[in-house]
Parts: sequence; C-alpha cells; structure tokens
Amino acid sequence: MRYFSGEAETSGSVDELFMREALRLAKMAYDEDEIPIGAVIVANGQIIAKGYNLTERLNDVTAHAEMQAFTAAANHLGGKYLKGCTLYVTIEPCVMCAGAAYWAQIDRVVYGAKDDKRGYSAFHDRIIHPKTEIVGGVLESSCSELIQSFFRNKRR
Ligand SMILES: [Zn+2]
Repeated sequence: MRYFSGEAETSGSVDELFMREALRLAKMAYDEDEIPIGAVIVANGQIIAKGYNLTERLNDVTAHAEMQAFTAAANHLGGKYLKGCTLYVTIEPCVMCAGAAYWAQIDRVVYGAKDDKRGYSAFHDRIIHPKTEIVGGVLESSCSELIQSFFRNKRR
C-alpha cells in the first residue's frame, strides 16, 4: 500500500497516518500484556518494517518496538543502514533505541508522546545523529493514553 503522494497531503497528515499504524501495533502489544509501544519504518512512502514491544514474550530487555523494526527493516533492505527511512514510534525512544537509530543512520525519527523518565532526550540530545530529523508530538494524546491505561490496569 502506498500512502505518500507528495502534494496531495501535508507532511503532518502523512506522519499521522503512519503513526496510526504504530498505534495499532502498540495496541497489539497491549493485548499481549506487553508495555504498549509500537513502531513502523517507512521508506519511499511505504511501510517496510513493523514492530511492537516484546520484552515479556521474548524475556529480553532489548526487545523494544524500535529494535524489532530496525532489524526487520535491515532484513527488508538487505543492508544495515536505514538511509532515506523514517522511524515512527508511539513513545519517545529510550537511550538504547536512540543509539540504534544513530548506528542505522536513519533520516527521521517521529514519535508520539515524550517519555520524561526514560526518553533519550532526558539524558543527552546528542545520542541521536545530528543529521537525523526529529519530530515529536504526533498523535501524542492517543499514544500517551494507551500507555497510561496500561499502567493503570497493572496497578489494580
Ligand atoms: Zn527503547
């Protein structure tokens, strides 16, 4: 499926379209009792990789949504660098995932809600590659509501 049309849509609405898909993946994580974070990677207006948080199922603290998506995207492209790609993720990447975004040399990172506690920017802005464009706050309230309701239910 091709979404990007260049002139018919503003970049904002394209970002929201892909963020909606990341949100759908976050809800799948939620349904599996995983912390609900979802990610997609887009190249040339097409989704080439998807991921959601699987740290419980895989018993692996590195199994974040972004890490799943980076690996899937590299497999799809047949190379480790994600130049020309955009990562959409429902919550601001942590230090580990921002570091992986750096190594992948991804062009853009678009996230939904900021993570004041574990988001990379709380530690150091320079974790992300200086050439990588960052956009925050896309569908922010939906992204943060999902994760807040997850933790509300956990506390019961
Ligand atoms: Zn992470």
